Amino acid sequence: VKRAGKNAFRFFEPSFNTHHRERIALENDLRDALQRKEFELHYQPQVSVSRRQIIGMEALLRWNHPVLGKLTPNSFIEIAEELGLIGEISRWVLEEACTQLVQWRSDGHLEVRMSVNMSALDFDRRDIVSSITDCLQRHALPPARIELEITESLMMNNAAGVAVKVKELRGAGISIAIDDFGTGYSALAYLQSFPVSTLKIDRSFVRALEGPKSNPIISAITGIARGFDLDVVAEGVEQLHQAETLQLLGCDIMQGYHFARPAPAHEALEWLRQPEL
Ligand code: C2E
Ligand code: CA
Ligand code: CA
Ligand code: CA
Repeated sequence: VKRAGKNAFRFFEPSFNTHHRERIALENDLRDALQRKEFELHYQPQVSVSRRQIIGMEALLRWNHPVLGKLTPNSFIEIAEELGLIGEISRWVLEEACTQLVQWRSDGHLEVRMSVNMSALDFDRRDIVSSITDCLQRHALPPARIELEITESLMMNNAAGVAVKVKELRGAGISIAIDDFGTGYSALAYLQSFPVSTLKIDRSFVRALEGPKSNPIISAITGIARGFDLDVVAEGVEQLHQAETLQLLGCDIMQGYHFARPAPAHEALEWLRQPEL
């Protein structure tokens, strides 16, 4: 018994240390990433299938790590939140997304909307609303051209505090989307008190689509959206048959690899310049 325990310990220790060291290294790199200008935004189109038109772009954060290469947010956002760096990163993301949108607008794309992901922790900041409205004013952007994507869990925790801020943002004309709708511990009641604008159907529901069959979850979500007069966007649309079924089920706006993968700003501009998809 003793021996097995010892072996197990030996087996475990080096890998624990490696992970621990990697994590600490990543933390240190993350502290410097903003200053070193290692962050970048990629953009993924949101397409109206009936209008055959790009109606929006979602900004997705990338970290060009000097050694590890391009990292997606799942590998560092949580660490940034734990280290208290997320506020600064979110500010940079909004600033960069607005700068980009101004450029696209000066190229004539006045109708396109920019979607920006928010961390739940952003809504703990007392100045969150003014910092967002200030940013839009500085860039002279119409608030209706910006949509903030927040998750359901954010609405559930500290619902009262968040509700006030969501109302203020909506009052200022900014759109709010519920990301990954239906995947949280959803209590639909919040839809009555939160004046959101858009529901995003999570990728997991789109992936489950098989052939042109009815799908109770997607029908339920499009039904809720219709009832509350909200837009609905399906994410993670990878295949033509999924797009066709989604349209039959009442969802017109879609996002996913079937249409385009997230790409740097200059590629996104090329897509915007195409008259029709
Ligand atoms: P999300 O908001 O649900 O974003 C959609 C994710 O699905 C993106 O991953 C996107 O690249 C990916 N995706 C798009 N189309 C498809 C598809 O057809 N198939 C599949 N399998 N995936 C698809 P990404 O860029 O790695 O971002 C992951 C998550 O990180 C995002 O999930 C979002 O929650 C968060 N995130 C991204 N950018 C930011 C940011 O600027 N700030 C914050 N706080 N979070 C961000
Ligand atoms: Ca999102
Ligand atoms: Ca999502
Ligand atoms: Ca998702």
